[in-house]
Amino acid sequence: MAAAKPIAIVWFRRDLRLHDQPALAHALTVAERVLPLFVVDPAVVHGRWHSPNRLWHLARSLERLDEGLRERGASLVTVVGRPADEVPRVAAAIGASMVAASRDLSPYGRARDDAVRGALRAAGVELRTGRGLLVHEPEDIRREDGGSYRVFSPFHRAWQARELRPVVDTPGAVPMASLTVPWARPIDAALGHPVPTADPELLLEPGEPAARRRLAAWAGSETLQAYASGRDRLDLEGTSRLSQDLRWGTLSPVEVMAACDGAGTGPARFRSEIAWRDFFAHLLWHDPTLARRSFRRELDGVAWQDDPGAAKAWTEGRTGYPVVDAAMRQLRATGWMHNRARMIVASFLTKHLGVDWRVGETHFMEHLVDGDPASNTGGWQWSASVGADAQPYIRILNPTLQGIRHDPQGDYVRRWVPELRGIDGPAVHEPLEGVYIPRVVDHGPARQRALEAYRTPGRDGHEGGG
Ligand code: FAD
Repeated sequence: MAAAKPIAIVWFRRDLRLHDQPALAHALTVAERVLPLFVVDPAVVHGRWHSPNRLWHLARSLERLDEGLRERGASLVTVVGRPADEVPRVAAAIGASMVAASRDLSPYGRARDDAVRGALRAAGVELRTGRGLLVHEPEDIRREDGGSYRVFSPFHRAWQARELRPVVDTPGAVPMASLTVPWARPIDAALGHPVPTADPELLLEPGEPAARRRLAAWAGSETLQAYASGRDRLDLEGTSRLSQDLRWGTLSPVEVMAACDGAGTGPARFRSEIAWRDFFAHLLWHDPTLARRSFRRELDGVAWQDDPGAAKAWTEGRTGYPVVDAAMRQLRATGWMHNRARMIVASFLTKHLGVDWRVGETHFMEHLVDGDPASNTGGWQWSASVGADAQPYIRILNPTLQGIRHDPQGDYVRRWVPELRGIDGPAVHEPLEGVYIPRVVDHGPARQRALEAYRTPGRDGHEGGG
C-alpha cells in the first residue's frame, strides 16, 4: 500500500494573508495538501480585550482570506472552541501530521501555543511556528553580551543593521485536503455576527486586498517622503494608516519595510516606527509581566487617583480640553486615533487626571481596530513615564500648547468637536469661559499634583515636553 500523502494544517491567527506568508509557504513545501484553519477562541473573543470593532475587522479580513484561498483551490475552515481542543481535533479528523503557524510572542499567544503543542504532541502531530508577525525576532536582536535591549536607540541601530528576510510570493495554487470538518462554521456566525461600535462609514476596509492597495499608495506617495514632519500633524493625513493591517497581518511587516525602502528622512523615519512595533513586541516577550506591570518597577507604586468621574469624562471626550476631547471622539467614531493624539490623551489621563495607565489601556483596547497588547501597553507605559524611555524626566504634555502646535488652524478640533465649529483658527484650542464645557482640571495645579505623585526615590520630578 502506498504511504499516505502528508497533510498539514495552516493555522492562521494574526497573519491573515496569502502574500509573504511563511507558514503557508512552509506547509506547501512539506505537505501534499493543506487545510487552512482559523479557530475562534472564546478567551480572545470574550476575554479581557473584547472589542466589537476588532471582531468586525477580523470577520471581514477572514472573509477576504477565504476568498483568496478559493481563488487558489482551497477555502478557510473556521471552528469555535479552545485551540488546545480544536486544533488536535481537526488534525485527527483529517489525518494531519503537522501544523504550521506564525510565531506569536504575546503572553497569551505563547501560553496558548504551548498548550496546543503539548496536546498535538500527544497525538504525534508537530506544531511548527516561525517568522511572520515581526520584521526581526527577539533572538536576532541581542546586545553583544547576549542580553536584550531596554532602550530604543541602541535596539534600533542593531535592528537596522540586520538584513531583511526575502519576501515570499503568493502561492498560485493551494491544494486543499479533501476531508471535511463537519463542525466548521460560517465565519460571521462563528464570530457572533459582530457589529462595530465605530461609525461603519469611517472604518477602513479590512482584508488583504485593501491592505495591499493602501501599502502601494503609501509607498509611492509624497506623504511618505514628507512623513518626518507630517506625521505629527493632527489635521492632515500624514501617516500610513497601515496599523490595522499590521495588527491583523493582512500585510507582512517585512513587505512593508521592503516597499518603503527609499532614501530620505521620510522613509527612514517611517521604518523606525515599524522598529518601535518590534521593540515593544520584544520587550513583552522578554518580560511578559509588562502586560500588567510597569517597566519601571519603582513607579508601579505611583499613587493613582480613584476618580471614575474624571475617567468617564475622558473616555467620553468631555474634559473641556478641545484637543483631548477631539481625540477621544475620533477614537470612538473611527476605531483609530492619531499617534500624536494618543500621546496627548495618555499624558492627560495619567498626569493631569492622575488615573492609572491601565484604565486608559483598557479603553483603547475596547475601541482600537489596531489594538495590540504589545504596542498598546508599550505606548501607554511610555506616555505614563513608567515605561521603556530614555528620558529621565516626567513628560507632562500641555494639551493646549500641543493642540496649537500640532493642529495649527484648529481643523482637527472642529472636525471632531462640532460644538466648537463656530470658533475660527487656533483660538478653538482656548475657548473663552462659558463657550465650551468647563475643564475637569486646571493645567497648572494638575501638573503640580502629577509631579508630586511621581516623586519617588531615584526619579527626577521635573517636567519635560511641551
Ligand atoms: P504610522 O505613523 O504610519 O506608522 C507606521 C506603523 O508603525 C504603524 O502602523 C504601526 O504598526 C507602527 N508604529 C508607529 N508608531 C508606533 C509606536 N509608537 N509603537 C508601536 N508601533 C508603532 N499602535 C498599534 O498598532 N496598536 C496599539 O494598540 C497602539 N496603542 C498605542 C497607545 C498609545 C498610548 C500610544 C502613544 C501609541 C500606540 N500605538 C499603537 C502606536 C501608534 O499610535 C499607532 O501605531 C499609529 O498611530 C498607527 O497609525 P499609522 O498606521 O498611520 O502609523
